[in-house]
Amino acid sequence: MTDQTSPTNDVRLRSTLDGVPGYKPGKPAAARTDVTTYKISSNENPYPPLPSVLKVVQEAATSMNRYPDMAVSGLTQRLAEALDVPAEDIATGTGSVGVLGQLMQITCEPGDEVIYAWRSFEAYPIVTALAGAKAVQVPLTAESRHDLDAMAAAITDRTRLILVCTPNNPTGPAVHADELDAFLAKVPSDVLVVIDEAYLEFGGDEAAPVALDLYRKHANVAVLRTFSKAYGLAGLRVGYAVAHEPVAAALRKAAVPFGVSTLAQEAAIASLDAFDELAERVNSLVAERSRVIAALREQGWPVPDSEANFVWLPLGDDTVDFAKAADEAGLVVRPFAGEGCRCTVAETEANDRLIEVAGAFRAR
Ligand SMILES: *Cc1c(COP(=O)(O)O)cnc(C)c1O
Repeated sequence: MTDQTSPTNDVRLRSTLDGVPGYKPGKPAAARTDVTTYKISSNENPYPPLPSVLKVVQEAATSMNRYPDMAVSGLTQRLAEALDVPAEDIATGTGSVGVLGQLMQITCEPGDEVIYAWRSFEAYPIVTALAGAKAVQVPLTAESRHDLDAMAAAITDRTRLILVCTPNNPTGPAVHADELDAFLAKVPSDVLVVIDEAYLEFGGDEAAPVALDLYRKHANVAVLRTFSKAYGLAGLRVGYAVAHEPVAAALRKAAVPFGVSTLAQEAAIASLDAFDELAERVNSLVAERSRVIAALREQGWPVPDSEANFVWLPLGDDTVDFAKAADEAGLVVRPFAGEGCRCTVAETEANDRLIEVAGAFRAR
């Protein structure tokens, strides 16, 4: 086994793969004896599963010799009622990143164009490149917000898909309803606009119905949601799109068969049932976010507003040094070299530590 050399590999792979950036997952925090370490690099929910959710998952585990319900009927029905949309307009997938891949498959031929803001969610360039489509990245404004005028101006005959991440990962600000209204008026009706609301629940009441309202008004709008963040089910991989029936039906065709496990389906339903309990956790994270942002601004950091469960430190050239300083203090943040660090609002102690590290770094 040990001295076996690998055979020469002549397998022909798609050339488009050369342009696919690798996804860099947040690395786990290494255990240390001197301090409790925290991973605040993946925007995970720091709370453990609710007992009621854990219980249905444990029960569901007893049937793991069976395939799940491929139509995801129970969850689809439950979502349709909760959102007041037809069940035909819902398409589920293995996390909203799974649904994002399906969205690429149903809209883009090789060479077609996908417009999104940049910097935004790291998965966008990956799924775009995998589809062989061309990414058209429109820089954020100086306030780290979407430049929707520039995005509208970037539309061409080849544009098939536009991704709007609100609130924007990794910078935090949300796109307002009036801005989206004005933007949609400029988008041709044959171009699909996806509003990625992964962090919707952290935005408070005003943010709530924006994307769904737009979907009701526009046949070319789809809403993308996930159970990974506010609902705390990142490890179970379940997300969904709300889109008009022809789009949703195409998404269902492109889904990985039996991709959403029974565990994930049951956990998502139980989480919707337990939303009041989850909302309390979301509210405390939102309160913590305000506390963290206020403290960082007090220290002089130009932190943009955040409607999500993370804050953005625009560090520019100091990004990597800051990430190192945080690491030494037992905090794993998400650095984007030359731009800034995204830091998840997490356990109170982790948030306190972030404020401390940022203060010390500023005073260095
Ligand atoms: C975390 C995140 C998602 C959710 O990903 P899942 O695949 O559902 O875990 C989607 N969009 C954005 C912008 C995110 O930050």
